Amino acid sequence: MSILVIAEAAGAGFRPSTFELLSHARALGEPASVILVGDDAANKEQLDGLAAKVVTVAGANLSPYSADSWVDVLAQAIQAEGADVVLFSEGQRTRDLLPRIAARLGLSAVTAGMGLTKDGGSYVVHRPAQGGKAYMDLVVEGGSALIAFRPNSFATDAAPVDGTAYEEKTIDAAANRTPVVEQVAEEGKKIDVTEAAVVICGGRGMKSEENLALLEELADILGGAWGVTRALVDAGWKGADHSIQVGKSGKTVSPGLYFACGISGATHHIMGMDTSKVVVAINTDPDALMFEYADYGITGDALQVIPEIVKEVRAVKG
Ligand SMILES: Cc1cc2nc3c(=O)[nH]c(=O)nc-3n(C[C@H](O)[C@H](O)[C@H](O)COP(=O)(O)OP(=O)(O)OC[C@H]3O[C@@H](n4cnc5c(N)ncnc54)[C@H](O)[C@@H]3O)c2cc1C
Repeated sequence: MSILVIAEAAGAGFRPSTFELLSHARALGEPASVILVGDDAANKEQLDGLAAKVVTVAGANLSPYSADSWVDVLAQAIQAEGADVVLFSEGQRTRDLLPRIAARLGLSAVTAGMGLTKDGGSYVVHRPAQGGKAYMDLVVEGGSALIAFRPNSFATDAAPVDGTAYEEKTIDAAANRTPVVEQVAEEGKKIDVTEAAVVICGGRGMKSEENLALLEELADILGGAWGVTRALVDAGWKGADHSIQVGKSGKTVSPGLYFACGISGATHHIMGMDTSKVVVAINTDPDALMFEYADYGITGDALQVIPEIVKEVRAVKG
C-alpha cells in the first residue's frame, strides 16, 4: 500500500496541513512519497525525515503557479508514482487542481476528508455528508483515489523516518493560457482562518462592525483567527472580507475549537465548519439552531459574553 502527498508551499515553508498529511502517512506505517512542483521545491529540505521520497518536478511554464500548466504536469507525475491514494490539503489550489487531475486520469476524487485508516488491503476515508448531519466511510477499491483533507485533521507527531530519498524530474508544461499577472499579499492577516487551530466566528448577532474587534481580541488571546458569516460580508461590514467568510460559499475550517458568536446556524454556514472538533455557541435565542451543533452553549449576549471569556482567559494565562 502506498501514499503520495501533493505538498503545498506557503511562506518560507509549507502549509501546516502538508506536515499533517506526511505525519499521518508515517503513523499508518506507510511513509509517503511527496511531489513538489516548480517553486514549491525551494524548501524541500524541510521534508527531510518526514517522507520516504521527495520528487521535485522542474520544467517550462511551472512558475508561478497556474492550474492550467500544473494539471498536466501533476497528472504525469502522479501517474508515474502510481500510489494507492494521493493526498491533497483542502484549499483554493486543491479546488483548482484535484477535480481536473481526477478527470484527466479517470481516478476517483474525494473532498472534505477528515480521517484515513487502513482496513485490510484498502484505505478508508472518513468524511462528512448531508451538510454535516451525517458521516460516511468510503473504501478506496479498484484503483487510485485523489483525496482532499481538511486542515487540522491529523496530528503532526508521528516518528520521523530514517532517510528520505530525493528524485528530480523535468516535465515541461504546455504554454500557460491563464498567466498570473500580479500577486498581491493580503494585508494584516495573522493566521489563515483555514489553518487556525482556534476560530472565533461572528454573525449578525455581533450587531455592528465596530464589535468585530471583540472577535479579533478573543482570537488573538487564544492564538487563533477570526471569521464571519456571509450575512456580514453581504452587508459590507468593514473587516468582514470574503477571505474570512466561513461556509458553503466561503472558507471551510476544521479547527480544534470553534466559537459561533451570534450565528443562527444556517446550513450554508454549518457546511463550512461542521468538522470542527469542539464547538461553542453564544446566542441570545435559546432555540437557535446553532446550539444543535455545539458541544457547549451559552445563552446570552455575545457582546457581553466575549469580554467575559477574554477576561477569564487572561486571568488563567496570568
Ligand atoms: C447559495 C448560498 C450560499 C451561502 N453561503 C454562506 C456561507 O458560505 N457562509 C454563511 O455564513 N452563510 C452563507 N449563506 C447564508 C446563510 O444561509 C445564512 O443566511 C447566514 O449564514 C446567516 O448569517 P448569521 O447567522 O450571521 O445571521 P442570522 O441568521 O440573522 O442570525 C443571527 C443570530 O444572532 C443571534 N443574536 C442576535 N443578537 C445577538 C446577541 N447580542 N448575542 C448573541 N446572539 C445574538 C440571533 O438569535 C440569531 O440566531 C449562503 C446562502 C446561500 C443562499
